[in-house]
Amino acid sequence: MQRKLVVGNWKMHGSRPANAELLAALLGARPFGADVAVCVPFVYLNETAATLAGSDIRWGAQDVSAHEQGAYTGEVSAAMLAECGCRFVIVGHSERRAYHAEGDALVAQKAQAALARGVTPVVCVGETLAEREAGETEDVVKRQLSVVIHQLAHCAAEMVVAYEPVWAIGTGRTASDEQAAEAIGYLRRLVGEGWGAEAADGVRILYGGSVTPGNIAGLMAKGDIDGALVGGASLDPDKFAAIVRYWA
Ligand code: PEP
Repeated sequence: MQRKLVVGNWKMHGSRPANAELLAALLGARPFGADVAVCVPFVYLNETAATLAGSDIRWGAQDVSAHEQGAYTGEVSAAMLAECGCRFVIVGHSERRAYHAEGDALVAQKAQAALARGVTPVVCVGETLAEREAGETEDVVKRQLSVVIHQLAHCAAEMVVAYEPVWAIGTGRTASDEQAAEAIGYLRRLVGEGWGAEAADGVRILYGGSVTPGNIAGLMAKGDIDGALVGGASLDPDKFAAIVRYWA
């Protein structure tokens, strides 16, 4: 069985002094019973790498270019992330889908670009509230994940999927245990249909959306969930460590 994984998404938060404090607190909170990573803004990658090097806490970025290199002003390539020691990169976060019009094909290309450089993509999928209320959750996540499955035919086991219902991100509202387990079970079946049973067992599928120390046990209690993608609570080392300790 795969070790559980908790990924912190700092989003566009942080400053040098605040990051140093947060990372020092996290290092001091070990040992953890799960794999842990923080995905930080690009400009803080080198300092994060220097602070976490030699520890068992991994680091990563929140986006990556689909291109190898070239005239793509403002973009950061997977090779650059690899050079900064990134183990993970979040792709297809709902904020990027919403504010930067990232579509499923681009998300799949980004995932492929990351894998080609040995950086594990954390592919985010999830429905909006309107889509859930219209009974379209499965159609939406199937559409989002199928493009990735099709594009990445051979790299399944290294990928991480995060089920993040858009209506639960940063809202304080979480999916119910049943909703999370149902959606993640469905995603695992899709992986199985696309890549086979071994891949379905091997791929880590996380839940994300207002995870806190108070709801982690409930969320993880049902279904086959491999960990969490944590936004807001990852900025507070006590809360983040308390979430990870669920697996202690
Ligand atoms: C996220 O940013 O991926 C996320 C899940 O945020 P939050 O935990 O704040 O809902």
